[in-house]
Amino acid sequence: MIDTLRLTAEDAAGLLERGEASGDELAGAYLDAIEARDPELHAYLHVVGEQGEGVPIAHKDVITTKGIPTTAGSKILLGYTPVFDSTVAARCKEAGLPILGKTNLDELAMGSSTENSAFGPTRNPWDPERVPGGSSGGSAAAVAGGLAPWALGTDTGGSVKQPASLCGVVGLRPTYGTVSRYGIVAFASSLDQVGPLTKTVRDNARLYEIIAGQDPCDSTTVELPEPVAIPEGEDLTGVRIGVPKEMNEAEGIDPGVSASVNAAIRLAEELGADVEETSLPRSVDYGLACYYLVAPAEASSNLARYDGVRYGHRAAVDGDLTALYARTRWEGFGAEPKRRILLGTYALSAGYYDAYYGQAQKVRTVIAREHAAAFERFDVLVSPTSPTVAFRIGEKAENPLAMYLSDLLTIPANMAGLPGLSIPCGLSDGLPVGLQLIGPQFSENALFRVGHALERALGFDFVPERLR
Ligand code: GLN
Repeated sequence: MIDTLRLTAEDAAGLLERGEASGDELAGAYLDAIEARDPELHAYLHVVGEQGEGVPIAHKDVITTKGIPTTAGSKILLGYTPVFDSTVAARCKEAGLPILGKTNLDELAMGSSTENSAFGPTRNPWDPERVPGGSSGGSAAAVAGGLAPWALGTDTGGSVKQPASLCGVVGLRPTYGTVSRYGIVAFASSLDQVGPLTKTVRDNARLYEIIAGQDPCDSTTVELPEPVAIPEGEDLTGVRIGVPKEMNEAEGIDPGVSASVNAAIRLAEELGADVEETSLPRSVDYGLACYYLVAPAEASSNLARYDGVRYGHRAAVDGDLTALYARTRWEGFGAEPKRRILLGTYALSAGYYDAYYGQAQKVRTVIAREHAAAFERFDVLVSPTSPTVAFRIGEKAENPLAMYLSDLLTIPANMAGLPGLSIPCGLSDGLPVGLQLIGPQFSENALFRVGHALERALGFDFVPERLR
């Protein structure tokens, strides 16, 4: 019997290599788990169940997959079947990873709970009354619930790191420009990055290795300055860790979250790291506001392509072209994309551009400089990933501002284009707490090293308690 709840992607690869399971048996075990638990969790929008001889994978449904419907969790893309593969899907295919299915998400990746999906929410495997986080909640829940050995998500403001935190799995948001965005349903192009969700840091490094690197189809990509190093060992001697006080003492951080994070920081010290308090005052004060100008502005522009003519949904309209556009967009977009289109169009409009969008770009530079200064003294900065553990379904759904605060601690590094890794560091009230590790550009290897050392020393059990 293959225990998909326990099996890491490396374990799965080992079973295949040693001939202890065939590719079909392995994928079959996940498909059985999906059949058993996905009716409750709803991590998947489409189960594909490809055959193959590699370790199977799940893709967030913003990742374009040739011949497989790609909805981005939105009615606006209903009926769209891509005729090409995104670069990340193509790289996974070349590496021999069969697709288990496409995972649920907040509509067009806008949200922090997966409740904004047009197709119903995903539930957290640790407690089905709670959200898995978002927007890559389906991918995080699939990995935590044993419905996929590993999965891809996308992170614009925190959508890989935050659901990883809420589901007790490992999530990487890579350095901007290291992973191709070609074929990813665009939200905010200067922020969007694809990242792996896995049970362990080593699995994460292995999946990052598969997807990263320059792509001629995305001119913002670069070659990695050094090969991905699969981490080993527990020693952190010489690693300089900074603890930004605003990110660890911010209002609204649950005491249980702080306690777990502080214990992990003490452990890093015991493993040899030099730990010191530091400060990122402006990044935390202005990060969220800056993000909620830049991201909706870019979204309002990116979403203009959904007009009922080229993709997906088209309203039945007796009238002129403008009526077709208006009716299609009215029917196809849910409340959150509509809100973002309004905010973004306003921020970009003549007369307001300088005051809002232009100003936000300047603040973004300030945030990047503040981080760069911190990395003159530190290799890694640490904080909670999310101020809270998984919240109840419905708790924040009617209050967009409360929902936006979920990303308070993930957004600053994203605005600066920096990589961040979330690893589970303990439980609070029986629910996982995530530790965020942030590094300078292209420091993924350092994040993997620190994350792996802490993961080993912490010994967190990633199988949800109620499923053990
Ligand atoms: N929750 C944030 C938002 O709603 C981030 C989403 C994301 O990273 N895709 O914009």
